Amino acid sequence: MSTAADTALQSGDDPQAPLGRVLQPGLDLSHRAILYLEDISVSFDGFKALDKLGLTIDAGELRCIIGPNGAGKTTMMDVITGKTRPDAGRVFFGQTIDLTRLSEAEIAHAGIGRKFQKPTVFEQHTVFENLELAMKADKRVRKAVFARLGSAEHDRIADTLRLIRLADTADRIAGLLSHGQKQWLEIGMLLMQEPKLLLLDEPVAGMTDEETERTAELCNTLAGRHSLVVVEHDMDFVSRIARKVTVLHEGSVLAEGPMDTVQNDPRVIEVYLGR
Ligand code: ADP
Ligand code: MG
Repeated sequence: MSTAADTALQSGDDPQAPLGRVLQPGLDLSHRAILYLEDISVSFDGFKALDKLGLTIDAGELRCIIGPNGAGKTTMMDVITGKTRPDAGRVFFGQTIDLTRLSEAEIAHAGIGRKFQKPTVFEQHTVFENLELAMKADKRVRKAVFARLGSAEHDRIADTLRLIRLADTADRIAGLLSHGQKQWLEIGMLLMQEPKLLLLDEPVAGMTDEETERTAELCNTLAGRHSLVVVEHDMDFVSRIARKVTVLHEGSVLAEGPMDTVQNDPRVIEVYLGR
């Protein structure tokens, strides 16, 4: 079945910018932006959760989004993934794909992977099997679940296991993993589907200091290879991974820039850091 996303993906021009591995066939990144939100507004019973929000994420960028509770961070993720429809504004994936016209499933199929706060792995399966199932769930490589893996597929799983630091626990039942390990496994499952843009909502919530440190290393490894948007409260974590930070407040951008600049912005201190 051909979807609107397929049609939109096929219509993209060849990307121009020299971005190496982050370039994606079918996605028009000729202006470097992989995600572009323009004047997005969302109201819940008259309350403006997002108020003319504008945001541009470049291909290969790792962007951290911070802001006090109720700032609109989760609503923004919901708009990008099609869970919530904006009352006004536009969301572009690359130059040509208008996400507000696609269903949640079409958006996922177009290459946007989202990790929710609570890990959702297949608890009764092994770590390896979880990655295998995630790979086979990818529509482009859909196969019978019982089909034997080829060596290239084996290698991909092994690479991902190393990346998420679960190579030693490949045969462990996922339900027995620590909270942090489950979070990494879920990131690995998203990576098996080769998303063009990865959205992580509070990836280190509930993690130990050591797990948080390892997650920062993982994010730093992914940066440049993938485009990542990370919503997070843990400022120590953010300062370890952030190149550029966007501060949301009352549904729009309060400040944006390098972490040390944003951290010393009096408006940010007032609404967020000083609380
Ligand atoms: P954040 O993730 O930054 O904490 P949210 O995006 O969850 O903020 O929420 C922004 C505002 O919108 C909050 O005031 C929240 O209460 C409100 N809100 C979010 N979702 C809904 C909803 N489905 N119905 C009503 N109000 C909502
Ligand atoms: Mg939230």
